[in-house]
Amino acid sequence: MAKPGVSAGGGVPAIIYTLKKAHESGNYWQFYKRMRSKNACKTCAVGMGGQQGGMVNEAGHFPEVCKKSAQAQAGDMNRFISEAFLRETPIAKLEALSSRELEKLGRLTFPVLAGAGDTHFRRISWDEALDRAAAGLKEAQPDEVFFYSSGRSSNEAAFLLQLVARAYGTANIHNCSFYCHQASGVALNEVYGSGTSSVTLDDLAHADIALIAGANPASNHPRLITQLMELKRRGGKVIVVNPLKEVGLVRFKVPSSVRSLLFGTEIADLYLQPHAGSDVAVFAGILKALIENGRLDQPYIDTHTAGWPAISAKTAATPWESISEACGVERDQLEAAAAMLGAAGSGIFMWAMGLTHHANGVDNILSLANVALARGWLGKPGSGLLPIRGHSNVQGVGSVGMTPALKEGFAAKLEELYGIAPAPGGQHTAASVEAAAAGQVKAAVLLGGNLFASNPDRAWAGEALRNIPLSVSITTKLNEGHIHGRGKSSIILPVLARDEEPQSTTQESMFNFVRLSEGGTPAVRGSMRSEVDIIAGLAQRVLPEGRFDWAALRNHHELRQAMSRAVPGYAAIAEIDRAGKEFQVGGRTFHEPSFSTTDGRAHFNEVELPAFAPAPGEFRLMTIRSEGQFNTVVYEEEDLYRGNKRRDVVMMAAEDARRLGLAEGDRVAVETEIGAMNVSVAVIDIRAGNLAMYYPEANAIVPRKLDERSKTPAFKSVIARVRRAD
Ligand code: SF4
Repeated sequence: MAKPGVSAGGGVPAIIYTLKKAHESGNYWQFYKRMRSKNACKTCAVGMGGQQGGMVNEAGHFPEVCKKSAQAQAGDMNRFISEAFLRETPIAKLEALSSRELEKLGRLTFPVLAGAGDTHFRRISWDEALDRAAAGLKEAQPDEVFFYSSGRSSNEAAFLLQLVARAYGTANIHNCSFYCHQASGVALNEVYGSGTSSVTLDDLAHADIALIAGANPASNHPRLITQLMELKRRGGKVIVVNPLKEVGLVRFKVPSSVRSLLFGTEIADLYLQPHAGSDVAVFAGILKALIENGRLDQPYIDTHTAGWPAISAKTAATPWESISEACGVERDQLEAAAAMLGAAGSGIFMWAMGLTHHANGVDNILSLANVALARGWLGKPGSGLLPIRGHSNVQGVGSVGMTPALKEGFAAKLEELYGIAPAPGGQHTAASVEAAAAGQVKAAVLLGGNLFASNPDRAWAGEALRNIPLSVSITTKLNEGHIHGRGKSSIILPVLARDEEPQSTTQESMFNFVRLSEGGTPAVRGSMRSEVDIIAGLAQRVLPEGRFDWAALRNHHELRQAMSRAVPGYAAIAEIDRAGKEFQVGGRTFHEPSFSTTDGRAHFNEVELPAFAPAPGEFRLMTIRSEGQFNTVVYEEEDLYRGNKRRDVVMMAAEDARRLGLAEGDRVAVETEIGAMNVSVAVIDIRAGNLAMYYPEANAIVPRKLDERSKTPAFKSVIARVRRAD
């Protein structure tokens, strides 16, 4: 059985690893200074840094840092790709490199081009790069072009990119959240009329109970565990809902607490391991138990919600047998969860991809929200709903307009301020890749990210993106997307990292808190430029002469003035740099039970038990991230928390391995409707009948099945079969 390399998350191994990263950065002092600089952490959306200084969270607590933050920082500092390397290394050879090996090549410090038929990338000047990119955009029709952004870009860059894309005449504008938390946005808008967290970080300090579903913050958002440790110390409880028993959600050693570092902190009080994709049944069961045991906040339900009678009737009519059969969790466990929720005065429910990466992703979140409403846990301090977002500014790029459609007020403001009437419709991420496969895309502008690897059906996605005549990528480093997903002609533009920006930038955390990052100086020598400078330089070559005041659009303070007038909830950004006053986005946090829905009430939503169920001999396959990666960026082959030394593995339960006559390390083929992968068996503590493989490699066998409401691929509910590899 693959034994986790540690008995708890965090701890001394995390400290040693962070020091190892400082060493790899080549300069301990420079590494520390950059980590402490007034820049928002470059990694996840929990949010650290900004005006309070690096390694400080929204509550002002120091030190708050984790391995993920150290990985990203060291990765920006230590190496760069030379012209000689590109001359000597044909693209065919780069195609053989893994995500980790490409990451290890280091920074891109000059523009490069690989024209149609070229075998190598070659250095070109900025002028040639921007002229070529502009020529391609001018040749195309606006609806033959899409603009994509990852969640690492600044608000200023994302606002400018959507602005010039709309002025160019397209609404094919989207960001990486379509493949991660779009389902959360759709569901939360249904429930309380706003698509993001209803709570602040401080609310976690006032919650009696936390429920974590479909997420592994111990690996992906480690500083959230500090909040859970504090909650436990207040006598609070933690419920985890996850098919995998994650070592860091059982026990964690928080490095910034001597007691926890020495003795560890028990995290989960109750750990439910349902089948992947069956969360609707889990939450229906918990709701049923709350009803049957009279643990509802009926006055709250009657006064502040809508839709309860239908939900109450439906839940009562749903037999326990159907619920347990659908999720694989026994009634007594669901009742135990309800009892814990019933005994708590306030609670926060948080989740991640384990709920959103399904064809019924939106339903998973609606059913979880039903339980919160039944307890009256929305619209009061210490209670609410919290999607655990990925990239450090994934929420911000959406807020400032990197989406096909804009909120009415926002669109009207763009018309008023810039004479832009946003084009109707617009492609979401999956639609743009489908259009590329159909030859309908002539050019793509990619601000950061790795659209290729984050797509399901890897081989198809590569062909689709390579079918695009021109791709223009803006990035700090090369990744698989620049190699396997490059257009026929591919221009890659080197960008400054957040803590290298010559002007201050802003980022929005998953708690709707907007930080100001002061920028800094480049960690490596080169001709990198800022995101805003690159976007303005390109757009100025494409759009009619004098279309915009380009000096103003290159000035971040000026961009923020425009954002304060146009972006809903962002009025305070106008003064963030002068006053140094970071702020909560307006209208997003609910501490009163009055919501942004048409009737001001929170809404219960009817959802069906999941139909997704494998036939006998089949499995539910989910793709997951390892401890050694952040999104598509792989920093380490090893997954310390799950005991895997390699990434080409299929994780299964001991019971299933025995039934199939398999042992740890055996080579097997995992087959789905679109293909097969040969991997090694890794036996872990996962609910029997479920398999896990690493994202993004396993996307090779993930079909292009979307949740029709969120347009998010079902990366975590794939029907699979396992057979011994030939
Ligand atoms: S938890 Fe997230 S925001 Fe905090 S230091 Fe780690 S990666 Fe950065």
